[in-house]
Amino acid sequence: MSERYSGLSAVRRRNRRNIRSLLYRRAPVTRTELAEALGLTLPTVTTSVSQMLEEGLLLEEPSPEAGGGRRPNLLRFNPSAEYALGVELGPYETAAGLYDLAGEPVAREIFPTAPSGYEEMLDSLQRQLEPLAAKAPGRLLGIGIGTPGFVNREQGVIRASSRAGWNGRPVAADVGSRLGLPALADNNVRMRALGQELFAGSGLPDLFAYLFVSKGIACPLIIRDELLSGSTSGAGELGHMVIQPDGPVCPTCGSRGCLESVAGETAVLRDCRELLRAGKAPVLRQLAGDAPDIRQILAAQQAGDPDVRRVIDRAVEYLGFAVAGVVNLISPAQVLIEGYLFRIPENRERLLSAARAHFYGLNAREVAIRFLPFDHFGGAKGAAAAVIETFCIEAE
Ligand SMILES: [Zn+2]
Repeated sequence: MSERYSGLSAVRRRNRRNIRSLLYRRAPVTRTELAEALGLTLPTVTTSVSQMLEEGLLLEEPSPEAGGGRRPNLLRFNPSAEYALGVELGPYETAAGLYDLAGEPVAREIFPTAPSGYEEMLDSLQRQLEPLAAKAPGRLLGIGIGTPGFVNREQGVIRASSRAGWNGRPVAADVGSRLGLPALADNNVRMRALGQELFAGSGLPDLFAYLFVSKGIACPLIIRDELLSGSTSGAGELGHMVIQPDGPVCPTCGSRGCLESVAGETAVLRDCRELLRAGKAPVLRQLAGDAPDIRQILAAQQAGDPDVRRVIDRAVEYLGFAVAGVVNLISPAQVLIEGYLFRIPENRERLLSAARAHFYGLNAREVAIRFLPFDHFGGAKGAAAAVIETFCIEAE
């Protein structure tokens, strides 16, 4: 905190944060709209806004609607005032990007999956991220790191993940000190949800769920513009809810028949390999021999392989039941769904009908489900969103 603000009371600091947050999320807005929405006086808003204009953080332009009288000016953040770096250490690849304040990419790159040794991972991240950081045309706010597992956002520490050597490590501090930047870390799927929330403008309701299906499955919740972390940093781990008690053992949680063990991409791959070993799945065999990847499996589904279709249909149906469970539990206004499986329209339809068959009461009519195109950079962008939120919008 700079000298200049250290005398501000907690109330004034909270007001400033609220003004910035609303300005970011509802832009373009007028000073009067901000004051009304936040229940603040116009001078309070004007003081904060003037300071942000002085800092070059905002852009101001006349409202296009010509009314009678004076037209109020519209305010929004200046996208090129500051920049944020984000990286996702995903199970299939590492994706990194440099973003402006509006979430538009300046530069981005995909790298191989990070090494499983912690120090090796830090070394390779440093090599990958330094050139990206150097491309920032203006002030760089910091770096956000999204990684699978339980990550304590406040401490920037990986609490538990499948990469045993990373557990207990202060990944935010370690990456930050190597790059000489402020840093933060969180679960990669929660970062994805945050990116959706922050960069959606006013397009998203303030209560929504984000279901992400990849090797694993997670469903972070956004409640009143806040990402729910939970008391153990494990909120949203829908993938480990048991739905088939006599099902296969999940390599991640150890339970039998959790959602991930019957409906994640790892489960689909496992079932398809079993089919091939049993001499089934003729179309898939032709496409991929005996070592298919998920892309080839979807191609075989579309080409009409009956065995592959059964595997995918069942996985997608289970995911539909899970969506119904989430909807019945929290009644979100909207559920966003992202996953490679849902590139295929038939899989989207099947999920919707399985979910709708189990919505309870009004949820059937009033909850919107929206599929997002699969985005390799969603985690990197979300990590940059977390940086913008923490080091710009909520900065004191
Ligand atoms: Zn599990």
